[in-house]
Amino acid sequence: MKYKPTIGLEIHAELKTKTKMFCACKNDSEEKKPNINICPVCMGHPGTLPVINKEAVKSVLRVGTALGGELADLSEFDRKNYFYPDIPKGYQISQYKHPLVSGGKLNGVEITRVHLEEDTAKSSHVEDPEQREWVEDPERSEGKSSEYSLVDFNRAGVPLLELVTEPVMHSGEEVSKFGKELRLLLQYLDVSEANMEKGEMRLEANVSVSLTENLGTKVEIKNLNSFSSAERGVEFEIKRQIALLEGGGRVTQETRGWDENKQETFSQRAKEDSHDYRYFPDPDLPKLSVKDIKEFSKENLDLEIKETPVQKRDRFRRYYGIKESDIEFYIYNKNLSDLFEKSAEHLNSDKKFDKSTLQILSNYIVSDFASFGEKVFEVKPEAVASVVRMINSGELSSRGAKNVIQILVNEGGDPSSIAQKEGLFQKNDEADLLLIVKDLVAQNQKIVNEYKSGKLSAIQFLVGQGMKATNGSANPSVLKDLILKVI
Ligand code: ADP
Ligand code: ZN
Ligand code: MG
Repeated sequence: MKYKPTIGLEIHAELKTKTKMFCACKNDSEEKKPNINICPVCMGHPGTLPVINKEAVKSVLRVGTALGGELADLSEFDRKNYFYPDIPKGYQISQYKHPLVSGGKLNGVEITRVHLEEDTAKSSHVEDPEQREWVEDPERSEGKSSEYSLVDFNRAGVPLLELVTEPVMHSGEEVSKFGKELRLLLQYLDVSEANMEKGEMRLEANVSVSLTENLGTKVEIKNLNSFSSAERGVEFEIKRQIALLEGGGRVTQETRGWDENKQETFSQRAKEDSHDYRYFPDPDLPKLSVKDIKEFSKENLDLEIKETPVQKRDRFRRYYGIKESDIEFYIYNKNLSDLFEKSAEHLNSDKKFDKSTLQILSNYIVSDFASFGEKVFEVKPEAVASVVRMINSGELSSRGAKNVIQILVNEGGDPSSIAQKEGLFQKNDEADLLLIVKDLVAQNQKIVNEYKSGKLSAIQFLVGQGMKATNGSANPSVLKDLILKVI
């Protein structure tokens, strides 16, 4: 029997606004000192009043626009009630009935909604050897493994975007692909750093399997701290559920954690229903009449979206027509992509903007220039264009080009002068090369004989020696012809 897995995602991303969601505290994910960016509002003191952060609302609306979702005319914030030390008010301000964005699509996956809420504080559970005696007293520690917990409120009240997808994915691979594309979009829209390792983006996967068209009972997986754990966690859970059902068991609706060390999911708690949270509109906050606020208009949001990854791929395909794998490389490497575009512009100015020249430029950027790391961003696009021109005209061999690029990146300068000074201009002149070839043949009689007795590949060795002798500046095909002539 063939079970069909189904997955829906809930993804949180910390927005990179200057201040928190409902107060003027600094929103700084880099702050290491605990409880520095706090005030009575985000500490949940009685009598304080929250004020909505406009920039955070706009960020979510911008994401909604880029996803092609529907922006709410009227939106509101709700209280989600529960008790935990990381939620000082006893409730989290979130959105329930009227999210800012409904619908939309990314990577072919339908989006249910995108809404705005506040992040919780960060708790760490501490093992303290000094307290060992205390924890080993089972009556006092209640069997807990850590002695005490610390709470850092710097993160409490940081604006958090939540995106929920429809249950339409079917594999771990699809999940990580979606996650990566969303991260890219959030970065392109400049709304979040979306770094999974830093917890700026968090992903929960709901997984079920079924033999029929009806979806099976879902299990929610938490602590998926990277795209690869998301992929493996989902695949593990699919297999676990299938094995359970095939063994005559039933899947229970619950929340499970992903154990990175054991590479398996484990039961954490039974899933609460939304009615357990007693959601109700927050009476301290005004309803948001989104459609009446000028900055939130579709036109304005469109203007703020410079280019999405989808638009960039499309533009690169149509305008430059380079290899798909190069385009994908540029999607993820903004600086090198800029270097490519600016260099292409210089080539364009001398009307050599044909696809093969652009592909040569791209090859050198993706392989050669990229290998130098940060240093490469000091290289002027004019210089890159000029290297490509010299390759195109046959003045530089590919070996010679590599040498010029190395000097260009490490020491700067003008490519043509570098080639001149280092003697790297391709030598096409037969008279010059003939002397070198005669020398070469004299010194490698054994190889020459091998060639003569039928080992045709020996010629390549001789060409290689010739390239070496000329510092990579010889034209290899001229070289080969000459060698054949001489022997
Ligand atoms: P809940 O009421 O438990 O919050 P929702 O219907 O709001 O459930 O869905 C929460 C998430 O779970 C969404 O991402 C959705 O796509 C996903 N989901 C819902 N039902 C299933 C299912 N049967 N299998 C897999 N994912 C599901
Ligand atoms: Zn505050
Ligand atoms: Mg729900």
